[in-house]
Formats: sequence, C-alpha cells, structure tokens
Amino acid sequence: DRLRLDDKVAYVTGGGQGIGRAFAHALGEAGAKVAVVDLVLAKAEAVVCELNLKGIKSIALAADVSKPEDVHRIVDTIVARWGTIDIACNNAGINMNSASEDTSLEEWDKTFNVNLRGLFLCCQAAGRIMLNQGYGKIINTASMASLIVPHPQKQLAYNASKAGVVKLTQTLGTEWIDRGVKVNCISPGIVDTPLIHSPELRPLVQRWLADIPAARLARVTDLQAAVVYLASEASDYMTGHNLVIEGGQSLW
Ligand code: NAD
Repeated sequence: DRLRLDDKVAYVTGGGQGIGRAFAHALGEAGAKVAVVDLVLAKAEAVVCELNLKGIKSIALAADVSKPEDVHRIVDTIVARWGTIDIACNNAGINMNSASEDTSLEEWDKTFNVNLRGLFLCCQAAGRIMLNQGYGKIINTASMASLIVPHPQKQLAYNASKAGVVKLTQTLGTEWIDRGVKVNCISPGIVDTPLIHSPELRPLVQRWLADIPAARLARVTDLQAAVVYLASEASDYMTGHNLVIEGGQSLW
C-alpha cells in the first residue's frame, strides 16, 4: 500500500493542538513514528499520550521554531532517538489581526519569525538530513490566504507570510527533487481549531461562513488524508505543490 508510512520517522511542529495534532494522529495511524513538537511542552505531551494509547510510537519535544538553537536541538534529538527524519511537517504558525496602518513592527516581526523564518530553519535542518539519505518528504502548512485575501480579515503580515510559505515551498521543491526530497504545502481554508476562537478572530466566523461554498468551516479531519498522501510514496512525482483544501472558498 503506497499510502503506508511504516517505519518512517516524522515530526510535526505546532503538533500540540489543532491541525498539527490531527496531522500527528494521521501520520501515526499510517505507521510513522511521530515527534510532536510544540512551543508548549504540556500540549505536546498530551498529544503523545493520545498517540501512545493508539500504540503509535511518539515523543514530545518543546521548541520555538523561530529559534535556530531549538530547531537544531529537536532535529538532533529525533535523529539520536530514531536514526533519521523522513517526514517533516512544518505546521506551527500564528495569526494576528490588525488594520495594516496600525500593524506594529513587533507584530510583523513575530508573525514572520514563526511563520516564515521558522519554516526556513526547519526545512533547512530537516532537509540536510534528507538530502544526505537521498529521501524525504517536507509538508509545510501555508493557508488559503496565500492565494486570496479573505474578507474582511485585516491580516497583512499573516497573508504576506503565507504567500512566502508557498514560494519557499516551490523553490525548495524544485531545488531538491532530483536528490529525492519532495517539498509541498497544504493550504487550508478556515479550519475549526483553537486558533480561530481567539477573541480577535471569533467575531469573524459568521462572516466567513457566507464566503464558503461548502457552507461550513473545514474540520481537521478534512486535512488528514492530504498530509498522509504528501508524506507517502504515492505522491513521489509531486513537488512544490500547494494543495488547497478550502471548500471552494478561494473560487468565490
Ligand atoms: P493553533 O493555534 O490551534 O495551533 C498552533 C500550535 O502551534 C499551538 O499548539 C501552538 O502552541 C504552536 N506554536 C505556536 N507558535 C509556535 C512556535 N513558535 N514554535 C512551535 N510551536 C508553536 O493553530 P492551527 O489552526 O492548528 O494552525 C496550524 C497551522 O495552520 C498554522 O500555520 C496556521 O497558520 C495554519 N492555518 C490555520 C487555519 C485555520 O483556520 N485554523 C487556516 C489556514 C492555515
């Protein structure tokens, strides 16, 4: 079965809740060992407990993906524990909401540090291991906001950072494919996770629903098969791709 991930070693950043948690479950159920990486160790540990109950081999690691020392530490830890990294899910991301004229440099930098610098650091560190072994699958989490400007969000830094995720994915995906490393991204629409229940985003949910042809928010379960596919040999001819899963929202 070309969708199985038996004996593969995976990590998921932002794996402590939401989309990352669902990715960790999906990869583990497909047979991979999973390192659950999160800024908050307790969240990662809770997910590892869930995975262990299903018989999935997993470890919890704390890291801020925007810090090179953290990224190198988790990569070294995974390699020391399981020998390599085959699947890297770079999913951690943050979302802040402010009118562009009021967006502070601090908000801009924080968003770019997590969403794009963090992705660069993780892709580079995991990518070096994958290039050495001549095999690897990198799956980045972008967003539908990489394609459209969702109305009426005020998310200049977020939208720009996610467009950057797609271009980073395309560039690495073409640069590394002839050495066996595939780099793709998933762009979800609006997904029902803790992220959208923040005080800033919560009031926008009703407005967003009117923009979604599917007439509902995405569920994390709508994304799980996609990450397994991109992590598996079934997608070996695919690289630099932005897999959009948004209930048709980017078409309206
Ligand atoms: P979430 O806020 O529910 O979960 C994100 C997780 O990442 C949290 O556990 C958090 O602790 C962790 N995290 C935050 N900063 C981190 C850092 N610097 N280092 C390591 N971990 C960190 O978010 P989510 O909705 O699950 O989103 C996951 C990804 O999907 C993000 O990249 C987000 O931009 C993207 N996305 C989300 C939606 C949506 O509607 N929820 C839509 C499109 C894209």
